[in-house]
Amino acid sequence: MSTHPRILIAGGGVGGLALAQVLHHGGLDVAVYEQDPTPRIRNQGYRIHIDPDGNAALRACLPRAALDRIRETSGVSGDLVAGYTHRLEQVMAQTFPNVPADEITHVDRNAFRAGLLTGLTDIVHFGRTVADYRITESGRVRVEFAEGGTDEGDLLVGADGVGSAVRRRLLPHAEIADLGIRCLYGRMTITEATAALIPDDFYRGFCWAADESGCGAGFAGVRFRTRPEGASDYLMTTLAATNERLGVTDEELYRRTPKQLWQLAVEATADWHPTLRELFARADTDAFFPITIRYARRVDPWQPGPVTLLGDAIHTMPPTGGVGANTALRDAATLAEQLLSSERSRTDAVAAYETIMLPRGFDTVDQSLRLAGQLFGRSA
Ligand SMILES: Cc1cc2nc3c(=O)[nH]c(=O)nc-3n(C[C@H](O)[C@H](O)[C@H](O)COP(=O)(O)OP(=O)(O)OC[C@H]3O[C@@H](n4cnc5c(N)ncnc54)[C@H](O)[C@@H]3O)c2cc1C
Repeated sequence: MSTHPRILIAGGGVGGLALAQVLHHGGLDVAVYEQDPTPRIRNQGYRIHIDPDGNAALRACLPRAALDRIRETSGVSGDLVAGYTHRLEQVMAQTFPNVPADEITHVDRNAFRAGLLTGLTDIVHFGRTVADYRITESGRVRVEFAEGGTDEGDLLVGADGVGSAVRRRLLPHAEIADLGIRCLYGRMTITEATAALIPDDFYRGFCWAADESGCGAGFAGVRFRTRPEGASDYLMTTLAATNERLGVTDEELYRRTPKQLWQLAVEATADWHPTLRELFARADTDAFFPITIRYARRVDPWQPGPVTLLGDAIHTMPPTGGVGANTALRDAATLAEQLLSSERSRTDAVAAYETIMLPRGFDTVDQSLRLAGQLFGRSA
């Protein structure tokens, strides 16, 4: 492979930044283009569960300083996943007693992004939206930005999430489907007063409660090992249901203010156990936002070339398995391993990556869909 190829990465989210770290430290010329104007405006849920695969991928991709920063600002380890009825009767519990002390079990999305950005200031360009790309006559990739201007590289990696502009051009036939579930994501800041409302188990990991109408709620604490500046410990409080159960159309849902969405969550749980009801009633009223649960339909392999995809851009999945970010991190580690191997041409490296990434990613989509079927009683 040629020396110092230029790698363009569309999207500075979980997978794009992990890839940028490992390629940059591997000596490649890397540029990340991220549409968000600043690092702190992602609305995708507050807490991300990191599993052993995600930990291994982080260790493979990140230099010590970034990994230490992420670990320091991660949440105190949890050891439980439990399910409850809406009357707070436990119906299942799985414990994970031997979590190593230095393992990262969950992170706050903003703190995670700050950690992933460690040392990448000159490489990540915020406020640059990749609108499209073209392959040049010499076989390079020219990226066009919505804000104007272009950049050219030897490889373009679409790490631009579920709405990927790169996927639209590369695989116009790829389909993103709607599972028919809407989530109201929110949080309750933990203070002396609200801490007393939280059942002990809800601090220990991820807890799910559901009623017979297919309405479910997830709760998980984030107590930072070291609190990032301006951050507070919190309990993630999320409600999931169909539009019919919520009693609102999408148009109404997406027009609502955070406070109106909070109100909707409070109303939807009005006949639940008082402890659960209270967790919504005392949640931060300005912190709620809606999410449409989507997933990618499996696509066949394509001819490898100077453009590839990773993470949600190719295999988006419902958050039910808590593995989307972990899979994006694994993609970053696999792609980097192939690209940094001196044995292969760039195209062979991309081909080898896609051979591993595609079945792995879509098997994970299937697993997440099966779990969504169990939790919501809705199959794809
Ligand atoms: C509510 C919720 C909770 C979740 N919880 C978990 C969990 O606990 N564990 C887990 O493993 N996964 C979880 N996931 C899934 C996880 O967030 C995603 O799978 C993961 O973020 C995918 O990483 P990515 O890098 O592919 O995409 P993203 O992290 O979404 O990053 C894509 C980036 O591309 C940028 N972008 C988009 N379009 C463009 C463009 N045209 N030009 C430039 N930039 C662009 C976006 O702004 C974004 O920063 C959750 C998802 C949701 C929605």
